[in-house]
Amino acid sequence: MILFQDQIVEKSSIHISPDDRGYNFGDGVYEMFRVYKGELFAKEAHFARLIRTAEAVQIQLPYSIELLEEKLNSLLQVEKIIEGTVYLQITRGAAPRAHAFPLKSEPVVYAHCNEVKRPVHIMKQGITVKIVADIRWLRCDLKTLNLLPNVLAKQEALDAGADEAILHRDGLVTECSLSNVMMVKDGVLHTHPANNLILHGVTRAIVLALARELELPILEEPFTLDALRSADEVFITGTTVEVTPVVAIDQQKVADGVIGPITERLQEAFELKFLS
Ligand code: PLP
Repeated sequence: MILFQDQIVEKSSIHISPDDRGYNFGDGVYEMFRVYKGELFAKEAHFARLIRTAEAVQIQLPYSIELLEEKLNSLLQVEKIIEGTVYLQITRGAAPRAHAFPLKSEPVVYAHCNEVKRPVHIMKQGITVKIVADIRWLRCDLKTLNLLPNVLAKQEALDAGADEAILHRDGLVTECSLSNVMMVKDGVLHTHPANNLILHGVTRAIVLALARELELPILEEPFTLDALRSADEVFITGTTVEVTPVVAIDQQKVADGVIGPITERLQEAFELKFLS
């Protein structure tokens, strides 16, 4: 079953117009929620980002966040999801193809959920990454459907035998194809500031809050590829990846090529606070 507009229905029963602007222009917004213990995790932060993105691209949400939350919870119950994800997207709706906004449009809401286990093994073992140029636009803070540069970056990483792409603009590290990136050097946690060049990850903010609780020094400043390559620890954060260590960059080991102590402390703090 899926959520379509404000109804929980069979996926096969819905009709989405080929003239939907999400389909023609990527004219829409989305969110990906984590589900732990049958509940939407960090829902306030996800809904706040959804509202912010929708306002920035002038898509009117068709109904209230309260009703949306109620519907997503009904979907989770119907699908009996305990540990999983919810994908939600809202497009500007159908209109004859023209770049300008239609005079009247009816946004289309669609959400589905899946059972997805925490990637416990990968979180211990770590991933490898490839450095890829960040060719995206200047509003990466908006969670819109325009993901082709992210798709291409991820594919470039996979084609090179890596798991994820770390993106850079002119030698400065921004984030990854579907996650944020942090590094540790001499005990200081470094990550790109939450400006227009990265998505303001919900997990990024949670991990920074945990780091503050652990009294780890934090520097939210852009850092170079050279700094990344000589980091003591590198890890990515995201709704599905949580805190996942990076053990090799372009086939070169990060430090000793195993999960670092600060990464491990942050993973433990995350589990203790949210999952125990
Ligand atoms: N950066 C990008 C480009 C993403 O697509 C995502 C998640 O989809 C993230 C970062 C991580 O954000 P969050 O922690 O909210 O999942």
